[in-house]
Amino acid sequence: MPVEPSDQQLAVLRAVCDTFVPSIEHSPDPHGFWARSATDMGADQAIVEMLGTLPDEQAGGLLQLLDAIGDQGFVGATQASREQLLKTTSLANRDAAGGIAILGGLTLLITYAAPDPQTGQNPNWAQFGFPGPLSAPPDEPKRITPLDIDGDTELEADVAIVGSGAGGGVIAAELSKAGLKVVVLEMGGYFNEADFVQSELWAYQNLYWRGGPNATGDMNISIQAGSCLGGGTVVNWTNSLKTKPWVREQWAKEFGLEDIGTDEWDRHIDAVWERLQVGDECSDLNVPHQLMQAGADALGWNFTKTNRNTDPSRYDPASAGLMGFGDQSGAKNSTMRTYLQDAFEAGAQIVVNTMAMKVLTDGGRAAAVAAVHIPSGANVSVRAPHVVVAAGALESPALLLRSEIGGPEVGKHLRLHPCTATMGTYAQDTDPWWGPPHPALIDEFAPGIDGDGYGFLIEGVQYTTGVGASAIPWESGEQHKAFLEDFRHVATFIGLIRDHGEGHVELDPGTLMGVPYYALTDPVDVATTRRAMEAQIRLHHAAGAQRIGVLATGLPLWHRGEDDLEAFIERANKIPLRAGAMRMFAAHQMGTCRMGTDPQTSVANTHGELHDTPGVWIGDASAFPTPSGTNPMITIMALAHRTAERIQAAVGAKTLQEA
Ligand SMILES: Cc1cc2nc3c(=O)[nH]c(=O)nc-3n(C[C@H](O)[C@H](O)[C@H](O)COP(=O)(O)OP(=O)(O)OC[C@H]3O[C@@H](n4cnc5c(N)ncnc54)[C@H](O)[C@@H]3O)c2cc1C
Repeated sequence: MPVEPSDQQLAVLRAVCDTFVPSIEHSPDPHGFWARSATDMGADQAIVEMLGTLPDEQAGGLLQLLDAIGDQGFVGATQASREQLLKTTSLANRDAAGGIAILGGLTLLITYAAPDPQTGQNPNWAQFGFPGPLSAPPDEPKRITPLDIDGDTELEADVAIVGSGAGGGVIAAELSKAGLKVVVLEMGGYFNEADFVQSELWAYQNLYWRGGPNATGDMNISIQAGSCLGGGTVVNWTNSLKTKPWVREQWAKEFGLEDIGTDEWDRHIDAVWERLQVGDECSDLNVPHQLMQAGADALGWNFTKTNRNTDPSRYDPASAGLMGFGDQSGAKNSTMRTYLQDAFEAGAQIVVNTMAMKVLTDGGRAAAVAAVHIPSGANVSVRAPHVVVAAGALESPALLLRSEIGGPEVGKHLRLHPCTATMGTYAQDTDPWWGPPHPALIDEFAPGIDGDGYGFLIEGVQYTTGVGASAIPWESGEQHKAFLEDFRHVATFIGLIRDHGEGHVELDPGTLMGVPYYALTDPVDVATTRRAMEAQIRLHHAAGAQRIGVLATGLPLWHRGEDDLEAFIERANKIPLRAGAMRMFAAHQMGTCRMGTDPQTSVANTHGELHDTPGVWIGDASAFPTPSGTNPMITIMALAHRTAERIQAAVGAKTLQEA
């Protein structure tokens, strides 16, 4: 049962929203930016709706927090007192700090991203110079026809594939092309260019896991993942990186995936590279990346243009900056446009809006998948002797846990590539919505101090007004607005670490979905994150930033000509790496059903098949033995390409189509 707030809790919620974004008299205020409050933008109502989508434990915790805040006389207090009350409540304990961070984050997200339904524009965007959606979606036909589900449905296949993202898409295509009868079950909907309205909130609601950025269960890290036909490849930033040599060596030597240490692996990478049209001819540098390059040159750091899975004939740099909301140009070669299309044309049946609930077994082997068509509640079952679990590293372990297969390691070893972020404010307009979000990176520090690959990358981000505003540290309503007033001059960098430590995924008892937990406490990771933070600050400084802000609570901005840089770095490096202090983000989930030789430390064998359940295969990032340390799409796809060959060999010649 969704948790419903009481009238009293609603009143406190409204007061909390307007404490984060108050109406402030300010002159000049040409766009009404200072005067507009969060409740003017409907933030309170939107939060109530979102509460209904959170796991019960989190939603109930937030309502208890509202009660605790209300008991302190919050509603009738002055703005200054309410700000103070939020801060002291945050100090009370970790849960309160995390809860207040969520309420603040949602308030800012909605206030600065929700478009007016009449105009398609958010009135605050004028202040940022952000044009909003650039064009109406094109009249692009849907080239895949998903199976129509109009009641309980029973299907049969050689291979049932759960999840259609980077991994599932590749396996669907390779097996369908090999003549196997394939059914793909995808929890999300089918959207193509004709649906992509270039809106942040629309994208979160329709294309992302759990409706957009979601905090880990311990609220330490904000997670993003795709959830639609094509999964993460529909919303991602198309940065295509090959597997690093130290990762290949580790997987070969420590986990028994020996061929990955040889030229054999290049064959899988090359196959994916070619199908995705990966190249660097569409890697235009926008202003933030030009600044990154200037800073890297000044510091003597290696700055490299990235390859991207982009079709040059459709590429439009003007709209590429909005690709995380679905790429309207159709240049992004997601699995929706490539591998799933191939699978469909080779005869695969594709079922969308359908959540696999359990893998069923018979005599200890894979036998079927039981699923639910979400809009109608109809049962969908797929009888298949082979089942590929490719639901992403948050939901693949959840599916195995619901099915009670996979052994004791399911859900462990969650790796996230946790990111810290910094914002530099520059003299010029940065127009970060122009150009691809990841046309280049700094990989100077990727090898790590010991050369074992536990280092970090510095990258840019896609410009977003909602997540962007909610990521800016909030000290007071006025300070936050003052920072945002100048948002048009900001460039954001992130430091993405290859994590040495790990988290885990549990089943949420209410939704039965996966809930990730992740505390960044591993000493190697703490040290790497500190180095990544220092590097980001030095990069902004070398690039000429006038102000530098760390996305953390409690650290004032650094100002050129006024503040000491070394003292700023020292203070930044003392910020605790957890909820309520350092903001951390992650869009790469890996490792929760990992491959290896030992059933005591891995879920799947070196071919990708479960140790304890023949016929069940892991086909996505959850199979990674350790994190890739690079944006993982290409490695996921190459591994899936390898697994597809192993499945094909296991299925043998006898297929349903031949029968
Ligand atoms: C904003 C963003 C930007 C990124 N940028 C890059 C980048 O530039 N380069 C890069 O290399 N990587 C990038 N990534 C990461 C990359 O996209 C992911 O790592 C990759 O898509 C993961 O592939 P996967 O197959 O493991 O899972 P996913 O692609 O997440 O696919 C899993 C699919 O399974 C579905 N599913 C889940 N549970 C069920 C169920 N029970 N039943 C049916 N279906 C289910 C989900 O809806 C989803 O569609 C980015 C990710 C994000 C979110």
